[in-house]
Amino acid sequence: MIPITVVDVRDAEPLVTEVLKSGAIAQGPMVKRLEEAFASVAGVPHAIAVNNGTTALVASIQALDLQPGDEVVTTPFTFVATLNAILEAGATARFADIRADDFCIDPDAVAAQIGPRTKVLMPVHLYGQMADMGRLAPLAKEHGLALVEDAAQAVGATFDGRPAGSYGIGCFSLYATKNVTTAEGGMITTSDDAIADYLRVSRNQGMRARYQYEMAGHNYRMTDLHAAVGIPQLEKLEQLTEARRRNAETLSKGLSGITGLQVPEVLPGRTHVWHQYTVLVTDDAPVDRDEFAAKLTEKGIGNGIYYPKVVFDYDCYRDNPNVIASDVPVATRVARQALSLPVHPKLTDAELDTIVSAVREVLGA
Ligand SMILES: *Cc1c(COP(=O)(O)O)cnc(C)c1O
Repeated sequence: MIPITVVDVRDAEPLVTEVLKSGAIAQGPMVKRLEEAFASVAGVPHAIAVNNGTTALVASIQALDLQPGDEVVTTPFTFVATLNAILEAGATARFADIRADDFCIDPDAVAAQIGPRTKVLMPVHLYGQMADMGRLAPLAKEHGLALVEDAAQAVGATFDGRPAGSYGIGCFSLYATKNVTTAEGGMITTSDDAIADYLRVSRNQGMRARYQYEMAGHNYRMTDLHAAVGIPQLEKLEQLTEARRRNAETLSKGLSGITGLQVPEVLPGRTHVWHQYTVLVTDDAPVDRDEFAAKLTEKGIGNGIYYPKVVFDYDCYRDNPNVIASDVPVATRVARQALSLPVHPKLTDAELDTIVSAVREVLGA
């Protein structure tokens, strides 16, 4: 079996051991080191570590001081955490359809969802390619909206040379399968001194100094044990991303021009960090997406469906007044056609060949 993802954090052993031996295992100097490295990757002055990516999103929305009924416009084609974070922060979610070329929120569709209660625009940089920030950032500015980037899948990606997490408040996940991992973890990046200050206090029970409480805060802290796992990966992030990029190029070379298969695009002005390599199994393919997935699994090719439905299309959200469903035809189609193939840095040339051959065989190409 060629797995869809491989977690290799063995090179963190010396740092993790250092933390274990120190006896100081909760938030401390390793977290600070990870934050500094992350701020540098995102090209911003502040990075605030938290305990997971969902928390990063929740804390960022909380920092904006919304009122009940205030709305966040986001994409319907994302991991459920994006929506859950909006709800946990007490806001209302609206959805703007995606574009078919980058699978990210469509600036034209966003404009149609903005109303008097809209306070936040939350694009998701899906699969490792940034949304169209060249249009979304000015749109947010024009309407006075805060910009929160769900950059969980896009550490190191750029748009017009600017990194993910530098346009608005950047929210990253360091979950086990993400491009950089601390097992569980999250990071928030910002250029705004006041937001950074709020987040540092809010993550630690609202405490600025010992027993000096400034707000009803939370425990959103990361531990030094977790931070130690992530530090070596950030040090070699460029190599790891380059390996993903080479793998994606090899796959696209082998898979282009097949009837029924659309390979992913890297749009001009953007760099892609290939969290996922996601193809569309289009309606002229000899099999549908689910059959395609089953046949690949049979042949030992790991694969994943991210995501099988639009995010609000589940019973648990149906009667929630804070979830305002809308017509999203592009996202609905893509959810039916999308399939991700292995692109992780551990793939060998032979495995890439095997993947290409298997896909061609299943599609009769
Ligand atoms: C992984 C992910 C999250 C949530 O991060 P966790 O660390 O799992 O809490 C949020 N949004 C997107 C798009 C993700 O892929």
